Amino acid sequence: KILIGSISVAYFAVKWTAPSFDPGSLKGARVLVTGASTGIGEQMAYNYAQFGARIVITARRENILQQVAEKCLSLGAQEALYIAADMASESDPDKVVDFALDKLGGLDYLVLNHIGSTPFSMWSGEVDHVRWLMKVNFFSYIQMAWRALPSLEQSKGSLVIVSSLLGKMPGPFTAPYASTKFALNGFFGSLSHELAMKKSNVSVSICTLGLIDTESAMEKVRGVVNVPAYPAAEAALNIIKAGATRQLELYYPWFTQIITLCKDWFPSSSNFFIQNSYNYNP
Ligand code: NDP
Repeated sequence: KILIGSISVAYFAVKWTAPSFDPGSLKGARVLVTGASTGIGEQMAYNYAQFGARIVITARRENILQQVAEKCLSLGAQEALYIAADMASESDPDKVVDFALDKLGGLDYLVLNHIGSTPFSMWSGEVDHVRWLMKVNFFSYIQMAWRALPSLEQSKGSLVIVSSLLGKMPGPFTAPYASTKFALNGFFGSLSHELAMKKSNVSVSICTLGLIDTESAMEKVRGVVNVPAYPAAEAALNIIKAGATRQLELYYPWFTQIITLCKDWFPSSSNFFIQNSYNYNP
C-alpha cells in the first residue's frame, strides 16, 4: 500500500509540473486523424473541430466519414476533409498522407489511431490473420509516419501513436492485437530516441490506454471481463492534450501506469490477477 501510495504521489507530482494545455494552440492546426469513422478517432475529430483545427479524417467507410466531417464543420472545424482508405493496402497509407499534405499544405499533427478488427479469443493458429493485422495496425503506422516526417519537421509538429495497455502487458485472448501494439511501442519508442538525439523538431507521444467504452471494445469484453471502461470522449481529449503538450507518454486512465509497474515488480501476483479477471471455463 505504501509503495502504491508513493507511486501515486510521484505520478501526480509529474503531472502537475507537466506543460499546461493551451486550446488556442490548436486553432488552425493541420491535423490528420486515422480510424476516425467511429470510437476514439471519431471523438478526437470532434475535439479537434471544437478547437478550430483543420482536419483530414480517414477510415474505410466513406459514407460514415462524410457524416463525421459534416459534424466537425458544425462544431467549428476550419476545414474538415475525408478520404477513404484501407490500411491493409500497400499504397493507401502513402495516399492518405499525400492527400492531407496537399489539401492542408502540410501537417502539424499526425494522429495514428486505426486498428483492424480482430477476434477476442484464444489463439488457434491464424497466422495469416496476424500477418494482415500487422499490416493494418503496425506497418501502415510506420509508413505514414515516415511519409509525414519531413512536413512535421518543418512545422515543429507531433506524431501521436494510440497504443494500449496490452502493448505493455499482454493479457489472454488478444495475442495478435497485443503483438501489434508491442511492435508499435518498440518502434516508436526507438524512433523517439533517434529524433531527440538528432535534435529533431518532431515530438512523439505514445498513448497507453486501458479499457475504453467504444462499441467495438465493449462488444468483445461484455460478459468476459469485469473491469471498468472509461469514456471515449475523455480518452480522446487526453490524447489530444498529450500531442499538443508534446508529452512523450500518456497513460489513460492514469492508473494504467501503475498497473504496468506492478506487472514488472510483482509478476506472479499480476499474472494471477490477470488470469482470474476473465470469465473462462475450459
Ligand atoms: P474502433 O474499432 O471503434 O475504431 C477503429 C477505426 O479504425 C474505425 O474508424 C475503423 O473504420 C478503422 N479501421 C478499421 N479497419 C481499418 C482498415 N483496414 N483500414 C483503415 N481503417 C480501418 O476502435 P477504438 O476507437 O476502440 O480504438 C481506437 C484506438 O484506441 C486503437 O488504436 C486501439 O488499439 C486503442 N485502444 C482502444 C481501447 C478500447 O478499449 N477501446 C483500449 C486500448 C487502446 P472503418 O471500419 O470505417 O474502416
